[in-house]
Amino acid sequence: MERRAILHPLTPEITCIDDAGASVCYVVCGKNRAAVIDTVNGQENLLDVVRSITDLPLVVINTHGHCDHIYGNVFFEEALLHPDDWALHDEHFAMKNEPGRAPDAFPDAKPCPLRPIREGDRIDLGGIVLEVVGIPGHTRGSIALLDRNSGFLFSGDAINGQLWMQLGESTKLSAYLDTLCALDSLRPYIRELHNGHNVEGIPAAYIDEMKDAIRCILETRGAKDDDYTWFGGDCRRHWMRENTWVLYTPDKL
Ligand SMILES: [Zn+2]
Repeated sequence: MERRAILHPLTPEITCIDDAGASVCYVVCGKNRAAVIDTVNGQENLLDVVRSITDLPLVVINTHGHCDHIYGNVFFEEALLHPDDWALHDEHFAMKNEPGRAPDAFPDAKPCPLRPIREGDRIDLGGIVLEVVGIPGHTRGSIALLDRNSGFLFSGDAINGQLWMQLGESTKLSAYLDTLCALDSLRPYIRELHNGHNVEGIPAAYIDEMKDAIRCILETRGAKDDDYTWFGGDCRRHWMRENTWVLYTPDKL
């Protein structure tokens, strides 16, 4: 089988793994252990890919419970996930071999046990500490991880260029806006956002752009936005700039 993973070293300690363009994950190497942030789609043995980067003991963290960030959990012993997304994790693993989906490369592989992770937790890798920041919005249990050394905020799908807030598991937009505003105290330490779908980082100022976008949707009640159809149904789309938008349904207003 052709290898899916393409490795992109971002700093001497941090590598982004692009899983065939479907989603990305990160390996952050400290002095004592390494963090695997998200496990992408489970179509290639991610442990083997990670072992091509580091031999350190591993801690696996899921930014949220969606399939394109957790399916590779099957290759590890345990993973950390916010408990608010555990039911979602189970729901997505239950869909893995459903008829109509592309055949899975490891159809019999089982998810590893989960351990809880919460806002304020600190994951010490030795010389690098990942701080857990709760960002409910895209899903209720979405978290980001802040590394003050690099200034990277690993944001999963919670802050990205094409934000999905139209899902049943997404919060209201006003609750998401409150979450973004609560990030203000950490802003001096955030240089770049690294999300779950792009290799390139986004400057931290994008958080302000996102706040303005959500405020605009709420103030205009979506009057400036257009209809959009995604694979799960119809929703509304608020354009921020080229290739950059927020999807939501009117019940999120
Ligand atoms: Zn997601």
